[in-house]
Amino acid sequence: MQKETAGADAGATVIMKCPFCGHLEDRVVDSREAKIGDTIRRRRECTRCNRRFTTYERIDEIPYMVIKKDGRREKFDRQKVLTGLLKACERRPIPVSKLEEIVNEAEAYVAESTARERPTSAVGELVMNRLKRLDKVAYVRFASVYLDFKDVREFMDELKDLLKARGK
Ligand SMILES: [Zn+2]
Repeated sequence: MQKETAGADAGATVIMKCPFCGHLEDRVVDSREAKIGDTIRRRRECTRCNRRFTTYERIDEIPYMVIKKDGRREKFDRQKVLTGLLKACERRPIPVSKLEEIVNEAEAYVAESTARERPTSAVGELVMNRLKRLDKVAYVRFASVYLDFKDVREFMDELKDLLKARGK
């Protein structure tokens, strides 16, 4: 378990202190961690008084990286992904919560990697596939920006399918 001194920053690892007896040792009782945005929720049990409590830990101490086409790495940026999605979904009947789910999924995908990094292309594809299920128009908009018209044929095929579906 992490027991670093808590700093002033929100990103610092905090001391997990039992809220009932103040004991500093506990064990995580949930095998599954619940990730909410950039926070991990854990159920813990105090090793002294055996009472259970929940902690919320920031997981941004070590950044997740994305590898760009030219090989450069940059920090995975939730806001950037969300901004792209919001732009694609302008005036579409999609609740922001749905877009946040996609962002969470994209982040989890990067976080799952043992190397803590994924190519941007793979992240982009994941986002595109989720958007495709959600809203075709938003999907085509996102794809046109994301694919950068480098794969025109694939894009045109998608567009044709979309127009066909509309004609029905
Ligand atoms: Zn306790």
